[in-house]
Formats: sequence, C-alpha cells, structure tokens
Amino acid sequence: MTTVTLTREDHIGIITVDNPPINATSHPVRVSIVDALDQIDHDPAIRIAIMICGGKTFIAGADVTEFGQPPKDPILPDVIKRLEAATKPVIAAIHGHALGGGLEATLGCHYRIADKSAKLGLPEVNLGLIPGAGGTVRLPRLVPVTEAINIITSGKPVSSTKANEIGLIDAICHGALLDAAKDFAQTILDRDMPVALVDRAPVDVPDSAAWDDIVASARKKSRGQIAPLAAIDVLRTGLEKGAKDGLAYERQTFVELRDSDQSKALRHIFFAERSVGKLPELSDVDPAPITDVGVIGGGIMGAGIATASLLAGFKVTIIERNEDACANGCNTVEKHLSGSLKRGLITQDRFDQLMAALSTSTDYAALASADLVVEAVFEDMAVKHDVFGKLSLHCKPDAVLASNTSYLDINEIAAKCVNPGRVIGLHFFSPAHIMKLLEIVRTRQADAKSLTTAFAFGRALGKIAVPCGVCDGFIGNRIMSAYRKHCEYMLEDGALPHQIDAAMVEFGFPMGLFAMQDMAGLEISWATRKRLAPFRDPAERYVALGDYLCEMGRFGKKNGLGWYRYDENGKAQPDPEVDALVIAESEKKGITRRNFSHDEIIDTILSAMRNEGDKILSEGIANSPDAIDVVMVNGYGFPRHKGGPMFLTRSDK
Ligand code: NAD
Repeated sequence: MTTVTLTREDHIGIITVDNPPINATSHPVRVSIVDALDQIDHDPAIRIAIMICGGKTFIAGADVTEFGQPPKDPILPDVIKRLEAATKPVIAAIHGHALGGGLEATLGCHYRIADKSAKLGLPEVNLGLIPGAGGTVRLPRLVPVTEAINIITSGKPVSSTKANEIGLIDAICHGALLDAAKDFAQTILDRDMPVALVDRAPVDVPDSAAWDDIVASARKKSRGQIAPLAAIDVLRTGLEKGAKDGLAYERQTFVELRDSDQSKALRHIFFAERSVGKLPELSDVDPAPITDVGVIGGGIMGAGIATASLLAGFKVTIIERNEDACANGCNTVEKHLSGSLKRGLITQDRFDQLMAALSTSTDYAALASADLVVEAVFEDMAVKHDVFGKLSLHCKPDAVLASNTSYLDINEIAAKCVNPGRVIGLHFFSPAHIMKLLEIVRTRQADAKSLTTAFAFGRALGKIAVPCGVCDGFIGNRIMSAYRKHCEYMLEDGALPHQIDAAMVEFGFPMGLFAMQDMAGLEISWATRKRLAPFRDPAERYVALGDYLCEMGRFGKKNGLGWYRYDENGKAQPDPEVDALVIAESEKKGITRRNFSHDEIIDTILSAMRNEGDKILSEGIANSPDAIDVVMVNGYGFPRHKGGPMFLTRSDK
C-alpha cells in the first residue's frame, strides 16, 4: 500500500501522507517523504510544496510497533533535516492533531498553516520522554522560549488559535485545508526562502533569575518525574551551546530516558489504559443505542454523573425525593457547567443547550424512555431496593440499570429486579464529571448486551472503563481499605500521621492518606465503622484512633481539626495533640514504638496493595494486573510514573 503520494497541480507539489489511523511516522512513510522531496527538488516545474495528510488527522505520533526495535534509516531526525534542506519551500497543512514527531516534522517545514480545530503538541513527557527529533531545539527558535517550555513540559497540545498567537503557525484556515494551503502558497511564491529554524536565534530568552523560577516551578509540578526537568535542561543547552550541540544532547537524553524505569512505567500504564476495557468475550456484541439517561439522586455523585452525561450529548432526567432536592440537583449541575463555561471549555450556546437537555422529576414515570439509568441515592440497601423496584416498574424492560454503590452487594440489588441481567454497577469517582476512572461491575447475571452498552456509555463519557466483579469495595476501594489498615497499624507501631503522609508525597502521591481522610471528612467513615461494629471479627487487630478523633470533635479539614491542625489559610500542620494520642494508644496496647524510615513506610503500603491485588486477581474480581494499576493510578493518586502497584512490584520487570 502506498502511504505517501506526490502529485502536482501547476507549480505546486503536494505530498499526501495516508497511513491510517494516525498517519504515524512509520518506516515506509519516512522513506517516501524523503523520495518525494528528492523528486520535488529535481522537478523544475515545481516551485513550492505542501505536506498534508489524508484521513482524520495530520501525523499524530510515532509507530508504536517500532518501539523497542532497532532504528531503521532514515530515522525521523534525518527526515526533518531533509525537509529543512529542501530547495523549495514546504508548507505543512495541519488538521486534526500534529503531535510528537508530527509537530517536529512541521518544524522542518518552512511554513505551517492549520485548520481552526487543529491541535498541536509535544506529548512525549507523558511517556517519560522528551521530543527526540529536534523539537527542543527548533521550537524555542520559532515561539518564545517560555511558550516552548510550557508545550514540552506540560505535554498538553495547544489549539490552533493559541498556536497562531505565539507564532507556531503562520495562518489559521477556516475552509477546505488543501485549498487554503494552495492560496497560502501563492502569497509566499515570491518571498525569499525562510532561514531554517536551526539557524535562527532563539525567541525571548529568559534571564537567569527567570530560569531559576522555571526550573523550580517545573520541579514542583512534576512531582518526581524526570522527563520535564530533563527537557528544560536539554532545551537550555540547545540555546546556550547552539543548535548542533543541542540536537546531539537531545538525542542522547532521549535514548537515556527511553531506557529509564519511569518511561517503562509510563508506557506500561499508557497501553494498559487502552487495553483494559477491551473484552474479547464482548467483541461481537453490539451496544444498544443510548439517547436518554436517567440519574436517581441529584446529590454529590448524581449531579456529577448527570453533568458528565450532558457533556457527552445525552438527554438527562434526574429523579429526586422532593421538589427541593430536584432544585438542588439542578443547581449543582448548573454550577458544574458554569465552571466549564468560565474555563472556556463550552460556549454560552452549548451551555444553554445542555441545560435545556436536563430535566428533573419526583415521578419515576419520567424515565419511561430512558435507555440507561444510574442510581446514586444513599448508601443503604433498603433504599436501593426501593429504587430498583420502582425502576423495574417504570423503565423499558431492556433499559440498562446501574448502581453507583461504593460497597453494597450489587448481586443482591439485582436479585429483586425484573430482568436482573440488565443490572450492573457503574462506580464513578468524585467529582464524577472530572475523574476519568469508571469501574464497570459485572453482576452474576449481567448479560453481554448490557455490559457492552455500559462500556459504550463509559467511552461516550470519555472515561477509562475498567471491568471488575462484585466484592466489597470492588478493585479500588478494596485495595485502599487494605493499605489504610496497614497505615493505621504503623501508627500504633511507631509512625506518626505526618511521617506516613510525607513518605507518600515523596513517593509521588499528590497527598498522604491522613491528609486525604481529613479532606474527605472523618465522620462518614466513623458512622460506617459504628454501623459495622457488631459484625467485626474480634480476633482482628482494630485501630481506634480515627474513632477517638471524631469523639473529640475532630472531623477533618472542614472544622480545622482532624489528623492535622489547619491554620487560617487551610494549611495542614502536624498537631502535637494527635501525636500524643497516637503514642498513648501504643502504650495502652503495650506496643513498643519503633522508627519507620520512608522506605519502610512505602514498602509496607506497596506490599499491602500487592497482597490485596493478588487476592483480587485470584478471585477473578479484576481480569488482569493491568486493570488494578489503571484503577490505582487514575482513581487513587498512585504516581503514574511508577506504573501502578502491580507493575512496580513485579519480579520480572
Ligand atoms: P448524597 O447524599 O450526596 O446524595 C444522595 C442523593 O440521593 C440525595 O440528594 C438524596 O436526596 C437522594 N435520594 C435518596 N433517596 C432517594 C430516593 N429514594 N429517590 C431519589 N433520590 C433519593 O450521596 P453521594 O455522595 O452522591 O452518594 C450516592 C451514592 O454514590 C452512594 O451509594 C455512595 O456510596 C456512592 N458513591 C459515592 C462517592 C463519593 O465520593 N461521594 C463515590 C462513589 C460512589
């Protein structure tokens, strides 16, 4: 199959790359681009060239099948040098995404124009890498250095509007891209050939104080990730020592990072996220179409789920207990959507459309046309039974009925339903319209159609959907309960809450376990513990410190006291009163306290996660270790660059 073609229209040579799905820079593409450039150089009828892509996007990355293979000439940096050395100007015409090597290829071109909805970026840091084909050297010679640093260290693409503002592209095109590129070609026909980016001076170089700020801010944001800091180092070297040295240093650093543990971990989680929801047993089952979504309960979770569903284009009906609760649910959704409006993620028109697609009711008859319903009422089996009884009566017989329960047995919920095969769990994470993770829970009787429909729904919501079986806490909450217990044991054995939290933050969690509990509020889990007290195994070690805190009125951050004391700015300070309470409890139980190093704390947490993960696998709750990693990274703050607890503790790495 020809992946690159060269055609000529009058004096314009048009190189079209057509290598679906993402026009990756595979070996045949690289060879053919160089061939096309040779032909253009030798064809006197061609005065100017356009490089454009077929399909949905411009070149959006490398060919992942070439990862780990020996490089095949010409490698991408050589192709880009060849573009740069072309004797006739080349215009990159960008639509969809120009990412990684795709954007670097445009930097070898002499001009860049982009469709109004195009996105341009260098996402390599997301895989623990830096741009490896000259991006760190050419970009800061085209756009201001701080903008180049932002693009490279954030890994986030910029819109064509932003690209135009900072000089990354020469024009935005609103109509057909190829026509716009041909029109643009006419305007530059008589201009001198632009100086290659490698030969240009950098744009707006920061002074040395600004560099210090840039490095300090990147260090804070990267939380232990090495690639963003390496990218700044390489970029600065390219500015201070010149393009030639910069390119060599970039290549050397790229190769070192490619072989690093962090890059291996980030690649692992990248591929795990893409494969975890693909279930071969469902591959030949089509999902049912969904247009109407019902949400029962407009509280914290219900309003978030309704918002996510509206943003995905569904019509949403919230059912609540009374008119006030309906109004509350509606107001919370409005608040979430106003946030999106303020951040420029949606327009006022879209906001109005989304609010018009939302309705509320106290009458379940309003769900007569719902294709899928998510229940998010109080965590109480009697209430859930009541709700599912009403859903059985009022919904279409094949509407998928999902529970967002955190801990209750969904098999038991399903058992009392008409057509229990369509009852499943959709376990969202708070805030549900923002968090990417979704656990899709297979009940014992769940049928294939309902499951496939649930996965399609998850995809439409833009979630990373992880299949799991029914158990107390599913994958994530169950692993969290297990390691929380071991953190509490460490408190009695000699560690203090702020020491455990500091070790976790140093490891790469955004916050420690105890700070997180303070943020969530301590009284909810206290109420649960009191409810479950009669069922507790008296032989199992029980740590009562969390109960003592609540008895003392310390409910967490919201009342300024929890595991920590909070100052007037809401900043957590270790509290000697809590330390004394912890130490007194060890004495009361006759435990001799000992010191825990950060490494010991992390080893204890990791082995608790690993042990529970192994149990979850052996019970068939998760269908792969990857599923557990994806859950812990996306729902529980496990540092992405460590790959997840199962990957990190794997013996065969
Ligand atoms: P919430 O108290 O904020 O909201 C519950 C809502 O359900 C309330 O608005 C209430 O009026 C409504 N409700 C109660 N009974 C009802 C009924 N019979 N019919 C209609 N509406 C009814 O609770 P939440 O935090 O949103 O939790 C809801 C569910 O989601 C629970 O099962 C919880 O375990 C689960 N969950 C919560 C979180 C979280 O972080 N909060 C995360 C995942 C799952």
